[in-house]
Amino acid sequence: MADPRGFLKVRQRELPQNRPVALRLRDFRDVHEHRDAHSPFLPEQAARCMDCGIPFCHQGCPLGNIIPEWNDLVRQGQWEDAIERLHATNNFPEFTGRVCPAPCEDSCVLGINQPPVTIKNIEVEIIDEAFRRGFVTPQVPQRFSGKTVAVVGSGPAGLAAAQQLSRVGHTVAVFERDDAIGGLLRYGIPDFKLEKEHIERRIEQMRAEGTRFRAGVEIGRDISWSDLRDRYNAVVIATGATVPRDLPLPGRDLDGVHFAMDYLVPANRLSAGLEVAEPIDAAGKHVIVIGGGDTGSDCVGTALRQGAASVTNLAIGRRLPDERPETEPWPTTPRLFEVSTSHEEGGEREFLASTVEFVGNDEGQLTALRVATTEYLPDGRRVPTPGTERDLPADLVLIALGFTGPETRGAADGLDLPVTNRRTFARNAGYATQTPGVFVAGDAGRGQSLIVWAIAEGRAAAAAVDKYLRGETELPAPIPADAVALRA
Ligand SMILES: Cc1cc2nc3c(=O)[nH]c(=O)nc-3n(C[C@H](O)[C@H](O)[C@H](O)COP(=O)(O)OP(=O)(O)OC[C@H]3O[C@@H](n4cnc5c(N)ncnc54)[C@H](O)[C@@H]3O)c2cc1C
Ligand code: SF4
Repeated sequence: MADPRGFLKVRQRELPQNRPVALRLRDFRDVHEHRDAHSPFLPEQAARCMDCGIPFCHQGCPLGNIIPEWNDLVRQGQWEDAIERLHATNNFPEFTGRVCPAPCEDSCVLGINQPPVTIKNIEVEIIDEAFRRGFVTPQVPQRFSGKTVAVVGSGPAGLAAAQQLSRVGHTVAVFERDDAIGGLLRYGIPDFKLEKEHIERRIEQMRAEGTRFRAGVEIGRDISWSDLRDRYNAVVIATGATVPRDLPLPGRDLDGVHFAMDYLVPANRLSAGLEVAEPIDAAGKHVIVIGGGDTGSDCVGTALRQGAASVTNLAIGRRLPDERPETEPWPTTPRLFEVSTSHEEGGEREFLASTVEFVGNDEGQLTALRVATTEYLPDGRRVPTPGTERDLPADLVLIALGFTGPETRGAADGLDLPVTNRRTFARNAGYATQTPGVFVAGDAGRGQSLIVWAIAEGRAAAAAVDKYLRGETELPAPIPADAVALRA
């Protein structure tokens, strides 16, 4: 039972300090300071949780994390019980506790008239402390089912599905076309947000539980989709949404205009100490990042660390409000102006900036980006306002406009999988495609999303696969396919 007066005694919401900007720009390491879990800081913050009658944070979290229970266990210093409660709903709190946008905090009841409980920070401290104290051990199945499952894609959706299915005794192989496991966690998200040791230690646990990993194998090229289906009793497609949204404007072919991922992936490989043939280097360049989401902000942080002469982040829309507007009341997740740790580090941000043209010289080299002020038409469309064009000097432009959906080539042919009008693999509410034994989880099914949704989908798809293979399942299924949060 939580302390019902805790939030009155500790009114201040406090988070650990991040490393000073000047220091963190010198490396790609985690921007957060390492914390001392023995200080009273965390139990005090956890004590602000009121254990309210209806904990809206449960619904805010796509995983249905039982937040008040682990908050109270942290308050009492019961770390082993806390990680058990957290792992009951979340396979990988070390990922969500670091990079989840924390919709749970938008739904926290305390947030009605005080700053919400620091749920995300408490989550990461529970798992870090659990690893330190040796509480994270392999959960080897009691007996094997004799059934085999191929999981294609090793991002958070594929890993969550694989871990759940291995633990109930199926023989699971995860196929990944990259040379290392992790999906976007590995070479998409930079180390300064998520250091890769967190992936390694989780893979070690999964290996000990029996999950097999096959990195460097592309399904559709090295093994055909139909062969894979024939060789395994079930297949989970968790290939992500990797097709980037383009900006097909005049000058798009100029040297110096790239998709964000063509910039971030080599940069992340370099920071992992790997060889990269021709990385795109922002050093000394005027860099413009088009797009204001996580990918855009990761480009900003990377370009600043590489020593860019200037970094400008453009957004086509208006600057969002700092405070929750009346139209997005508690407990929904409001669309607010966000300052990521990368934005804290430098660069300029411009809003209402519509790109009109990539401008170049006779050698085909980018020299500037022509933008105009965005005008909102009555039907909601956003267009450049004629006569407001201006050129922003640029040596490197990174297009970070999100992703249109998964690569469907091969899978759609070999397995006869229809594609939705959102360009994702079609599936029913139980994650099953029209091809028996083939399931879809994560961004491949719901479109570009978040890690927390990928884990929730991977867990739920695993329950569906287990039921398909055994006729019944005890695995929890947090959400039906394509569920939307309270906020959506
Ligand atoms: C730069 C960037 C930053 C982000 N930052 C955040 C953040 O801060 N917080 C957050 O919550 N979300 C963030 N996201 C979104 C998040 O990473 C994704 O929603 C999540 O990783 C999706 O998980 P997934 O398992 O569905 O797919 P992915 O993580 O995309 O993994 C899919 C994997 O499948 C592999 N694959 C594809 N096709 C094949 C094939 N034919 N054979 C074998 N393997 C294949 C791919 O190589 C990839 O490794 C970010 C995304 C990007 C791009
Ligand atoms: S996973 Fe995300 S939404 Fe769920 S409790 Fe953790 S930070 Fe909140």
